[in-house]
Amino acid sequence: MRDLQLLNDDAIYSFLQNSDATVIKTHSIVKFGGSSLASSRAWRHVIDHIQKGRVEQPLIVVVSAIGKTTRSLVGCIEYATRAELDKVDGGLTEIWQTHKEIALECIEDGQSRSELQEKIDTFLDQLHVEAMSVANDLQGHPSPLSSSYGDAMLSFGERATSQIFQWVLQGSGIPSIAVDAREVILTDEQHGAASVSRDKLNSAFMQHPALASFWGAIEREHPSSQVPVPVLGGFIGRSHTGQATTLGFEGSDLTATLIAEATGAINVTIFTDVDGIMTTDPRVVPTAKHIPRLSYDEAEDLALAGARVLHPKTLSPIMSQGLPVRVRNTFNPDHPGTLIESSRSLLDQSSDHSPSNHRPYREGWMAIAMAYTHLDTTTSILTFLHATQEGQSQLRHWSESYALPLEMDTHGWHLHVPYLHADHPNPAFPLTLQAIHDIFFP
Ligand code: ADP
Ligand code: ASP
Ligand code: MG
Repeated sequence: MRDLQLLNDDAIYSFLQNSDATVIKTHSIVKFGGSSLASSRAWRHVIDHIQKGRVEQPLIVVVSAIGKTTRSLVGCIEYATRAELDKVDGGLTEIWQTHKEIALECIEDGQSRSELQEKIDTFLDQLHVEAMSVANDLQGHPSPLSSSYGDAMLSFGERATSQIFQWVLQGSGIPSIAVDAREVILTDEQHGAASVSRDKLNSAFMQHPALASFWGAIEREHPSSQVPVPVLGGFIGRSHTGQATTLGFEGSDLTATLIAEATGAINVTIFTDVDGIMTTDPRVVPTAKHIPRLSYDEAEDLALAGARVLHPKTLSPIMSQGLPVRVRNTFNPDHPGTLIESSRSLLDQSSDHSPSNHRPYREGWMAIAMAYTHLDTTTSILTFLHATQEGQSQLRHWSESYALPLEMDTHGWHLHVPYLHADHPNPAFPLTLQAIHDIFFP
């Protein structure tokens, strides 16, 4: 395990203040979400994307913790606060075991596999001891998820995944560098929802010792296939007091765009498990349609309205630079995904961009997209981004017929409905999510 003492905080901060780091515009950021890393089959896809991508452009890779690791760690935090340390032990052991199995399944050569196994065992044993000590500190804690102990526990997911994935990448013949995100993503002390010190990010990346070979290879204009691939965990950082912090759930998307902004990347690709941004959640509504292109504002509005595919803050770091973000499906490599960029969407070209005069992407659609959130156990809110005149009439009709509150703001139209299920209607409102979607996006 890397030793954080290597770069103690005083050293980092005084160094950063004195350095005049430069920005080199040559590389791309790629982020793989937990859903893209949940099995060895998924890791092989990810390795393939990295292998192909790095030939075109040097890459910095950001990974989330695999699959449902963060959720399991939240479970461990709950056990720990209730002093059920044997359950924490069991939960952690399961997380480590999954990582180990996935990693070993990716390496075919017997000799390399046993070397990898040894490295992983030593590494995970150390993480386990550290995590059990954090669990001990969490006992009886009144607000664990906004505490340094909670963040320390959550950080084990990204720490484990990024290190083990880097070893597997290396073992697959891709020269790579493990970067401990806590050494470069410096934040404030707001545990559970930390803000990154953006002014320190450029220097932290340019000057980090482990990244010297990356920047050096770029500066010497090595062919991109010879540039090593830095791998770091998203979601986590470190406060100036040296504690692990987290940026809020799903925060790895934000890590990726923050790094892009700070290091002068030319673009960002967010790899996930669906073909890009769709008219609504395709896991809930299978008829959801693909959206080829969105403006920053449209994508941000969709994320704010509850579409899990992007963290709502993802786009803010890169908007002013106009860096394009592409959302792609790890498991469907030929699909172009969704391009998010500063220009307005292709078909939404009406000169009047007032909320009442929007045009959808396709003839016949009555909005750009539909998002939903569940306000509580009885009410859902449906948000229609940029509803057309026809869409607005439809919403007013539902609102009046069923006495449902309808609100409009600059982001779109919000209809409050009785709790909506994907496929069976609520007696108080006879339409399912699927049916509503298909009326708006025929
Ligand atoms: P990752 O692990 O890659 O971060 P997430 O689960 O956070 O993945 O986000 C991807 C999921 O977002 C998809 O599997 C899908 O269920 C959900 N989703 C919600 N709304 C949308 C939408 N409008 N378009 C695409 N996916 C959506
Ligand atoms: N693993 C973290 C989470 O589940 C961060 C992320 O996946 O984006 O929220
Ligand atoms: Mg996500």
